[in-house]
Amino acid sequence: MDAKSVNLSKEFVNKISPDGKKLKLPINGVKKIIAISSAKGGVGKSTIAVNLAIALKKLNYNVGILDADIYGPSVPQMLGIHEKPKSEDGKNLFPIIQYGIQCMSIGFLVDQDTAMIWRGPMVISAIKTFTTNVLWKDVDYLIIDLPPGTGDALLTFAQEIQIDGIVVISTPQEVALLDANRGIKMFQKMNVNIIGIIENMSSFVSDDGKEHFLFGKNGAENLSKNLNLNLLGKIPIEIKIREGADTGKPYIEFFSDNETSNEIMNIAKRITEKVK
Ligand code: ADP
Repeated sequence: MDAKSVNLSKEFVNKISPDGKKLKLPINGVKKIIAISSAKGGVGKSTIAVNLAIALKKLNYNVGILDADIYGPSVPQMLGIHEKPKSEDGKNLFPIIQYGIQCMSIGFLVDQDTAMIWRGPMVISAIKTFTTNVLWKDVDYLIIDLPPGTGDALLTFAQEIQIDGIVVISTPQEVALLDANRGIKMFQKMNVNIIGIIENMSSFVSDDGKEHFLFGKNGAENLSKNLNLNLLGKIPIEIKIREGADTGKPYIEFFSDNETSNEIMNIAKRITEKVK
């Protein structure tokens, strides 16, 4: 299928409830929706989305992951998925099961080069159509890997899909924090629930045990304090996290009982507590 086959009809985009308000779209087969967002690209949003999805599965939940990062869909690669999803009716798609979680990526359907030249509303329309045409089965938590940025279109999406909460990923670096701050304020203005912030790449521990703060220290922690938001946790730079992402072997599936894996599991637990 190519971009053209994604139905861009506005039929549900403009659904209005009897009281005149726009209806929020639920996603069939899904109980809770958690969207992972970052104002900047390259801060580890997709890597964390994948690891959190697996962490939630390890906590015995039924988990789905929806890769809606239309400009750089990387979840299939990070999960080692090489097949395309199947459809019985040419419209609804069966998610692909990998590591015990259900996965769907917009990258399976929409050509990235085409998407690059789409205007915001088209992108969002495509994501929404795609989001509602997946045959999720008994999913307790659906993790959505959102496109990076803070544009209007992304906010519209966050408002129109029944998202239970947004998790914001930032590195401790000043430029990333400035963008994260702006993104959070926009979400807040639109009354989207922000579950908290995760500081990724918070530090790097070298072989001699020394901790290096390559991108600055406690940046996201300070941001969360200033904005009165939860800091859900800090994930260090680990070569194994990067290797796992590149080779389709998510870190948290293969490592346990070390500081980093415990932190990822704790972040997943904290998220479930916040969206009960
Ligand atoms: P984004 O989705 O924000 O664009 P990615 O998840 O693609 O970012 O991550 C960007 C790069 O950083 C990838 O190569 C990924 O493997 C790497 N990466 C992300 N988080 C970590 C981490 N905590 N430690 C080491 N490498 C990481």
